[in-house]
Amino acid sequence: MSANDIAIPADTGATLVVNLDAIAENYALLQKTCPQARIGASVKADAYGLGLAPVARTLSKAGCHTFFVATAGEGLTLRGILPESEIVVLNGPEREQTDLFAGGALIPTLNSLEQIERWQQRSPADPSPAYLHVDTGMNRLGLSASDVDTLIAEPARLNGVTISTLMSHLACADTPAHPMNAAQLSAFQAARARLETVTGALRASLANSPGVFLGPDYHFDLVRPGAALYGLAPSPDRPNPMKQTIEIHAKILQLRDVDTPMTVGYGATHQVEKPARIATVAAGYGDGYPRAAASRTGGSMHAYIADYKTTLFGRVSMDLITLDVSDLPDELAVPGQTVELLGPHVSPDDLARSAGTIGYEILTGFGNRLHRLYRGGGD
Ligand SMILES: *Cc1c(COP(=O)(O)O)cnc(C)c1O
Repeated sequence: MSANDIAIPADTGATLVVNLDAIAENYALLQKTCPQARIGASVKADAYGLGLAPVARTLSKAGCHTFFVATAGEGLTLRGILPESEIVVLNGPEREQTDLFAGGALIPTLNSLEQIERWQQRSPADPSPAYLHVDTGMNRLGLSASDVDTLIAEPARLNGVTISTLMSHLACADTPAHPMNAAQLSAFQAARARLETVTGALRASLANSPGVFLGPDYHFDLVRPGAALYGLAPSPDRPNPMKQTIEIHAKILQLRDVDTPMTVGYGATHQVEKPARIATVAAGYGDGYPRAAASRTGGSMHAYIADYKTTLFGRVSMDLITLDVSDLPDELAVPGQTVELLGPHVSPDDLARSAGTIGYEILTGFGNRLHRLYRGGGD
């Protein structure tokens, strides 16, 4: 896809392009990496900011049957999009919510003894099996080791509750050599063996995106990738096997020539040191382009115009970015020219690194103002 193909409508400054075929290819690559396991796609937070409906439909068409969301509200929205799929709510049932789960045929993740009890007391008309989450070191959600002891000592706590799947979550899977990975794996296996004495055989699920790449010991019956489907690197230390799924293109609004002793942007932080040409581009942190990408030095991050590399100059503001385009050919330094903020030359992980954050935060931070364009997906 070249920047010239990207339409930025006259009434917006920037377009977010989501390549649905690339998401389907990433699904296929993950399935190839763990051929024995099923893939349950994490589509929480509006499919990591890319748009729940088009992403979920694409993954469903690619063969995905199980979807993970964080909240019951997200689950109900997804139920309206995918009537037949298995939808699992990671945060579990909160107070007074069990009817919502029944209404949307949502599957809860039971994260505590309290949530187990709440699910036990739900309307008996709802026989859905639940997922059970055991904590193995993340210390965020899930039954603690002593909660597991309690369940085994008092199995009546599970009367009327069918558990289909035991899950846990890895804390350090993006660092393959981290000793936490093996420690969590063995804690998970031990918890499963103990719990199965009271529940019977359980399906098991441990791996998020980076966990898929830790090898077959981590795959079990179901893996739960999100980030890798959307093209983020499973590990910062290894080449990224995933295909990039998004681009952001914004347009130049104005050009101006500057010289010493001028400054550019808020705070007058960026001193002009020699004559330069500045392009003002119609996107900013209000669109999710991180302000931290340039705030320290006035310009560490790059954007591309055709194949020309340009550098941010001055702070990122809410609606605007300023670029040093001194070396750009005149015919490209014109209002209306398209600028690649994310695309073939710049990945979300690159942008995240420049801003001291992670690709996940970049993806989920895109603003509503961005014009969205979906490519592929078979319709
Ligand atoms: C978000 C989440 C995932 C998906 O993680 P990725 O790193 O995006 O693959 C899997 N499991 C749980 C419990 C999660 O909260």
